Amino acid sequence: MNAKYTIDGFIHIHTTGDISMNELHDRIGGRFMAMSTDEIREWQSQALARSVAQAAKSPFYSERFKNMGLDPSDIKSWEDITKLPLTSKEDLRLSYPAQMLTVDQEQVIRMHTSSGTTGKPTAIFHTREDIDNWAELMARSLYQAGARSNDVFQNMTGYGMFTGGLGLHYGAERLGMWVIPAGAGNTARHIMLIRDFHVTVIHATPSYAMHVAERMLQEGDDPKSLGIKMAVLGAEPYTEEMRQKLQDIYGFKVFNSYGLSEMNGPGVAFECENRNGMHLWEDSYLAEIINPDTLQPAGEGEVGELVLTTLRRTAMPIIRYRTRDLTRIIADKCSCGCNHRRLARMVGRSDDMLIVRGVNVFPSQIEEVLMRHKWLGGNYLINLSTAAALDQMTVKVEIAKDAFDGSLDTLRSKRGELQKELKEQIGFTAQIELVESGSLPASEGKAKRVIDERG
Ligand SMILES: [Zn+2]
Repeated sequence: MNAKYTIDGFIHIHTTGDISMNELHDRIGGRFMAMSTDEIREWQSQALARSVAQAAKSPFYSERFKNMGLDPSDIKSWEDITKLPLTSKEDLRLSYPAQMLTVDQEQVIRMHTSSGTTGKPTAIFHTREDIDNWAELMARSLYQAGARSNDVFQNMTGYGMFTGGLGLHYGAERLGMWVIPAGAGNTARHIMLIRDFHVTVIHATPSYAMHVAERMLQEGDDPKSLGIKMAVLGAEPYTEEMRQKLQDIYGFKVFNSYGLSEMNGPGVAFECENRNGMHLWEDSYLAEIINPDTLQPAGEGEVGELVLTTLRRTAMPIIRYRTRDLTRIIADKCSCGCNHRRLARMVGRSDDMLIVRGVNVFPSQIEEVLMRHKWLGGNYLINLSTAAALDQMTVKVEIAKDAFDGSLDTLRSKRGELQKELKEQIGFTAQIELVESGSLPASEGKAKRVIDERG
């Protein structure tokens, strides 16, 4: 043991030297991480058969399999996946509260519900082993990104039903990190804790990380002075341009994380140190990419809807879940040595797509343009309305602090250029409203970027 930090006379002994490599290997599922492509495929065949047999114990899947004339014992290889039915969000809602549960109540140790804004939520159940496996997935994700047991981790997202809170928390603890469960909100306290406890890794939504930075800049403080080396950002879509902007402001590295509550939460796919796509943990999830209209498999490397099947969940296996997320699989070998294939950055969710004047627009396309400009801040809002029976889009965006030099003409011409650039990206003219830094509603959780007031 050796002393690492001295905090106000309080000495933190970090325990890296205490954990044997074998123990660490077990904690993060090293045997799964090191699998070759053939080993992954072999494992998937066995795990899929187990998962389908387990799913058949639930009222929902037993009925669905029966209606299709499907015998679970027919599923012998991962290639049999297409014989199985797709599961939609609506199926999960219909199976509320517990039609997909496969075990006795006493075996369940936790449930989460997804954030349904209307009607019944969807409930996801876990046995002790399920929770352990989830923690392992999260721990290995953090490890491959470069986090170690001597890092101090501050969790800046909400706890409770939101899976990002407990998911990252259990994973970071499992890796052996010093965890501060600070939760959402209370920006001043976050900044104080990061500084006083030499936090090296944070987890936040991108919009909240931006909010904290802008608050510090407004107070004449420098986010770089916090010394954070790594940030895990997730729970809302954000662009490569937003990542770059946050990295420039904080001087940390941002790692993309992908997950969804139906598949536990975070820990489904995560970037390694190369940050060229997110390694999908294929021992735990069988991935397909389908054409969302025809429901047929997309061609190799093509963008389509991600469909996932749980391979290691007992209480509630989900078969061929339509995530609505649009992405593609990167099959090339990653130089980090990990053979789990990667997911490319999400193109968007089919649910997020806006149709404006008949044109398909993703909010991420707009963000991409805004974040290219250093004179603009990180907070923006897309407003949709109708005028004279025509869709109108207004993009409100904050000007970066100190970017306005007093000349309205300069500002007008900058706005004109921005409008032109945006038109090239989305295909029609949007109104642009430049507003003062800090004047748009701040986000402490998932940012609300679109307000649709059209009838
Ligand atoms: Zn890699």
